[in-house]
Amino acid sequence: MNTTLYHDESKQGEALLIEGNSNPIGKKLFLESYGCAMNFADSEIVASILKNEGFSTTSNYEEADVIFVNTCAIRDNAEQRVKKRLYDYNKAKKKNPDIIIGVLGCMAERLKAKLLEEEKLIDLVVGPDAYRDLPKLLKVAEEGQRSINVLLSKEETYADISPVRLGKNGVSAFVSITRGCDNMCTFCVVPFTRGRERSREPQSIVRETIDLVNNGYKEVTLLGQNVDSYLWTGGGLKKESYTAEEINNAVTFSQLLEMVALAAPSIRIRFSTSHPKDLNNSVIETIKKYDNICNYIHLPVQSGSSKILEMMNRGYTREWYLERISKIKEIIPDCGISTDIISGFCGETEEEHKETLSLIEQCKFDFAYMYTYSERPKTLAERKYKDDVSAEVKSRRLKEIIEQQNASSLKSNKEDIGKTFKVLVEGVSKKSKEHLSGRTDQNKMVVFPKKNFKAGDFVMVKIDACTSATLLGVSIE
Ligand code: SAM
Ligand code: SF4
Repeated sequence: MNTTLYHDESKQGEALLIEGNSNPIGKKLFLESYGCAMNFADSEIVASILKNEGFSTTSNYEEADVIFVNTCAIRDNAEQRVKKRLYDYNKAKKKNPDIIIGVLGCMAERLKAKLLEEEKLIDLVVGPDAYRDLPKLLKVAEEGQRSINVLLSKEETYADISPVRLGKNGVSAFVSITRGCDNMCTFCVVPFTRGRERSREPQSIVRETIDLVNNGYKEVTLLGQNVDSYLWTGGGLKKESYTAEEINNAVTFSQLLEMVALAAPSIRIRFSTSHPKDLNNSVIETIKKYDNICNYIHLPVQSGSSKILEMMNRGYTREWYLERISKIKEIIPDCGISTDIISGFCGETEEEHKETLSLIEQCKFDFAYMYTYSERPKTLAERKYKDDVSAEVKSRRLKEIIEQQNASSLKSNKEDIGKTFKVLVEGVSKKSKEHLSGRTDQNKMVVFPKKNFKAGDFVMVKIDACTSATLLGVSIE
């Protein structure tokens, strides 16, 4: 599992199973998730709600009573992937008309009732803030009526629902700390599909982390679209102004990090995603202060051109971003830094693209998620700008961005040869049963000979080789 806000490609669309939960007489749920880690964390809330209704999970949708697909709407190809999947479910439903098919998450929220019109065999359409309503909606569907709840909430954080951990390695888990996003980046559909930003009550976050420690987990990732803007002032939406009392009692992201670090000293703490305009020195200093907060920041830049950043409404310039990177490196010299980049945003010139390439070179990112721009209906960019960079140019620029980033990753990995890292083992390496894979504090993947180690162990590994994606080494006593 990649512990950023994104989820391992290999887990996309994988059946999610509640461990040890086989209930031969109960109903069976087939649950699949696409998209970001928030969606996977939400699927654990959904599974928890249905488990309380007596459901167990299955990896075979043909034997399921209920098929739920938790969807992503961030790029057009994410939606096309789900549509193809719905075709498979529909075939199963034609054989067994009693199967209930539900579409959950961002695509449900974006398309609303239109999904019911377009996809005749869907029974349920449920947005990300309406999961508490699932038992009721399921009853309506069981009575033969199609049902929908896509209301977005100003308060819902599911703070009191203990997520059941799905198909994980028992080593690392996600804990949601905020929902929604108030940023309105012009390219992004998230504010429309996940609603306004809300912070979750801090003690419930601490409690969930302690529960994870008690259940043997070794790593937690605090999740939100923009974790740095976390602010607990008693619940609900952020306000324009606060009373003196509210400010006194408020909990900021750096304070929350500190609370979790102190309450769970044995667990590794990560967080994602940081936003360059909101990542303040206090967060960087808190990371530095606590050994159990990983020296790693995922800081999406999107573009190296200040003009494009302004059109994207990101709220910072190239210079601001570079200053944040310098500050991170000044306070935590060995901090791992990764980013997200979009190629071919509206009106992007060759010069502006080159600014992105030069920024990659300057920042020396350890890793990046890189995409071509995909226009999303109803976003500000769709309304204001022309999607005028051709598909060929977007792809060529993306290829150049990937090449530049791979060179950076390789350089960064080569610098680690000869060093020793504390690696948290996640499981057996995908390529060899004789090897284990795990991550360093900086979130770099390390592969090394298995010996007697197992998932969940912390192992000191000396690096002796690398590729652009992986460090290779041997364990030392
Ligand atoms: N909240 C995070 C942030 O602001 O950095 C990221 C959230 S989004 C789920 C993950 C990434 O998808 C973004 O950082 C961006 O690079 C990419 N993305 C979002 N909308 C996109 C679009 N319309 N086309 C291409 N990539 C997009
Ligand atoms: Fe989308 Fe911007 Fe919010 Fe990230 S910060 S979720 S890119 S609107």
